[in-house]
Amino acid sequence: MRALSIHDAQQCVLQHLKAMPVEHVALHDSLNRVLAKDIAANRNHPPYDVSAMDGYALSFADIAAASEQDLIRLKVVDDIRAGQMPSKRIEAGQAARIMTGAPTPQGIDTVIRVEDTQLQGDDVLILTPPKQGANIRPLGENLKDGVVVLTKGTLISAGVLAILAMVKQKDVPVFAQPSVAILSTGDELEALDDPIDEQKIPDANSHALYAQCKALGIEATLLGIAHDDAADLKAKLAQGLKYDVLLASGGVSVGHHDFVRPTLSDLGINMHFWRVAMRPGHPLAFGTSSTGCAVFGLPGNPVSSMVCFEQFVLPALRQMMGHATCFRQTVKARLSHDQKDRAGRTHLMRVTLSRDEQGYVATSTGTQGSGVLLSMAMAEGFAVIPAESDALKKGDYITVQLLQGMDFQPHADMEL
Ligand code: AMP
Ligand code: MG
Repeated sequence: MRALSIHDAQQCVLQHLKAMPVEHVALHDSLNRVLAKDIAANRNHPPYDVSAMDGYALSFADIAAASEQDLIRLKVVDDIRAGQMPSKRIEAGQAARIMTGAPTPQGIDTVIRVEDTQLQGDDVLILTPPKQGANIRPLGENLKDGVVVLTKGTLISAGVLAILAMVKQKDVPVFAQPSVAILSTGDELEALDDPIDEQKIPDANSHALYAQCKALGIEATLLGIAHDDAADLKAKLAQGLKYDVLLASGGVSVGHHDFVRPTLSDLGINMHFWRVAMRPGHPLAFGTSSTGCAVFGLPGNPVSSMVCFEQFVLPALRQMMGHATCFRQTVKARLSHDQKDRAGRTHLMRVTLSRDEQGYVATSTGTQGSGVLLSMAMAEGFAVIPAESDALKKGDYITVQLLQGMDFQPHADMEL
């Protein structure tokens, strides 16, 4: 089986997976979940035309001729509060005092702000006339009865949750969260709770993968460490197949003690690919079980494992979670330095990002060896260096996948 491109491998993964079933959760528990159905408004909001300001409701025809020399005066004949229906029609030469959110009375087409008026006894003087139709929120401006206001696949943010509350969605249809199991493999590994043994390697992958899942809102289960021994591996992998997704790291290459792929085949997993033309992260196996478990055999190197999670597991989980979009955002950036490279595989170079007048600037986080975790830990994105490229120059444009929302200092061109 030849190595797939990152794109083809991603498509292969997504083709084999589908969204999780729909479940209902209480409104407050729906935060950060993904909406599983379109939601239509079940009322108009506002339910009638309302004032957007504290002021006076009037007919524009009465004040069209107003000027500083010729102040217009209207008789205030009503006082309308929010939550109260107006009792009378406003006639020519009249106005009604009105509060923000109160329904507008018959006979008016404009609201003037209280700051632009002066009250004299029962009369209001128009100091600065507004435009015709000003300061009125029309019926249904926010929600229109029967019209879809939120679509399936929407991430439920605080603002979305507020709309759900307005349409009285006490039980929210969301996609179920996939269950994820994580297994590290290797005789050399030492668990977090084990005493330090100088001969061993501390297990980083279980925790990196756990954190990567958690950042997506998924609480994964750690299955611990399996030995490079077919029987132990088989028992632990079998346990992992009870979950929707199994992430095993290490032992997936062609070494004499790399038992993960044959053991998965033994367990009846249908393997779809096991190599991707990328650096880091070349050995990467993906398969599915007859019961619907998606299995990723990730490379053992902590950096490679994390990069492969970003490229393949993240889109897979997002698709299962029902998100409308599966991939990270990308930006175009200029390299801040020359970069020699090895052609042959797509290189995902760990970079930090900054901004100058011409846009984003990407800088390597340092030694890019797949054993150097610090250059991963400091990364804000992956610069995508195409397989055919062996040298890039300072100033060359590259695509950078963002690892998370960026938090730049406000720039001069941002008018805040
Ligand atoms: P493997 O893919 O099993 O050949 O492992 C490749 C390299 O990654 C070896 O140097 C392993 O010691 C290291 N490695 C494998 N699994 C882990 C892990 N869970 N945590 C840290 N390093 C690991
Ligand atoms: Mg190993």
